[in-house]
Amino acid sequence: MSENPAPLVDPFARAITYLRVSVTDRCDLRCVYCMAEDMTFLPKQEVLSLEELDRLASAFVRLGVRKLRLTGGEPLVRKNVTGLIASLGRHLKSGALDELTLTTNGTQLAKHAEALAAAGVRRINVSLDTLNPDKFRAITRWGDLGRVQAGLDAAKAAGLQVKINCVALKGVNDDEFDRMVAWAGEEGFDLTFIEVMPLGEIGGEMRLDQYLPLSLLRQRLAKTWTLTESSHRTGGPARYMTVEQTGRRLGFITPLTHNFCESCNRVRVTCTGTLYMCLGQEDAADLRSPLRASDDDAVLDAAIRAAIARKPKGHDFVIDRRHTAPAVGRHMSVTGG
Ligand code: SAM
Ligand code: SF4
Repeated sequence: MSENPAPLVDPFARAITYLRVSVTDRCDLRCVYCMAEDMTFLPKQEVLSLEELDRLASAFVRLGVRKLRLTGGEPLVRKNVTGLIASLGRHLKSGALDELTLTTNGTQLAKHAEALAAAGVRRINVSLDTLNPDKFRAITRWGDLGRVQAGLDAAKAAGLQVKINCVALKGVNDDEFDRMVAWAGEEGFDLTFIEVMPLGEIGGEMRLDQYLPLSLLRQRLAKTWTLTESSHRTGGPARYMTVEQTGRRLGFITPLTHNFCESCNRVRVTCTGTLYMCLGQEDAADLRSPLRASDDDAVLDAAIRAAIARKPKGHDFVIDRRHTAPAVGRHMSVTGG
C-alpha cells in the first residue's frame, strides 16, 4: 500500500473529509422523535468491536478524512468508548486528523469529560431540547435534566467547547427558544436549532404535528435578538448567524427546506460497519465483510473507494400530508444524524 494514497473524491468532485461513526445503536434515553419506547437493539456479534471501529475509522483517516465525529445511539453508553477515543487521538497527534469530536445526550458526560479532553477532543455537541425538567422527562421518556446539567458543567471544567443541539418541536419547546438563546449566551455555548426529520417509524403522525419550519423560528428570534449572517460553514446543512447580544453562534439545520447537497463532504458509518453515502438515501455499502474477511487494509480501502464512487448527488426527503411514512426507514439513532 502506498504511504500517501489518493484522497477520496466522489463522482461530483466532492472530497470526502468528514466521517461520522455511530459506535452503538443503544441509548439510555428514548427521545420521542428519535426512538420508539420499545426498541429492539442489535445483537452484539453484529456490532463492530472497538478494535474494528478503530481500524475502520483509521482507514478513512488514511484516505483523507480530516474530521471524525462519534455518535450513536448514545456514544458514551458504549463500554470503554473512551479507550477508542483515546486510541483515535493518535491521529490528532500525528496531524492526520484536524478534529475528533462527538455528539452526545450528555447523561454520562460528568464521568467522561476529562478523559475526552485528555484524548484531544476539543469540542462536543450536546443535544438538549428544553431547560424544563418535566418537559425533558417527557421528550426523552425518562431522562433526568440534572444529569445533563452536571455533564455540561464537567465539560466546561474540562475545557471542552460545547455546542447545544436543540430539535425545534411545535407545541413542545417553542415557548423556550428565547430562553435557550439567552442561556447558551450565559453559559458560553453555541446553539443550533434542528428541524425535525422524517426518519424511522416512531408511531403515527407525531412528526407532522411537531414540524416547525426554522424560517418561522428565525423570524421570531429576530424580534428579540440581533442576528447577523456568519460566514462559518461546515460543509453540512447548518447555516450560522451571530447573536450580537451574546456574541455566540446560532445555527439552523434545515435539511427539509434547503438544499445543501452541493457542498456535502461527509459520509456516515453505522456500528455494524454499514456505510451510508447520503443521509437521505437508502443506498449503503457493507464494510464489515471486507473488515472481517482480511487483515489486509488494501481490501478495506478498495471497498471504501467503491462505495464513495456511488455517492449520490443529493437527497429526497419528503414531509407533507400525503407522505406521513418516513422518507427513509432507518432511525436517526442508526446513522447518528
Ligand atoms: N444520542 C446522541 C444525542 O442525542 O446527541 C447522539 C445521537 S442523536 C441520533 C444525534 C442528533 O440527532 C441529536 O441532536 C438528536 O436530537 C437528533 N435527532 C434524532 N432524531 C431526529 C429527528 N427525527 N429529526 C431531527 N433530529 C433528530
Ligand atoms: Fe438517544 Fe440521542 Fe436518539 Fe435521544 S436523540 S433517543 S439521546 S440517540
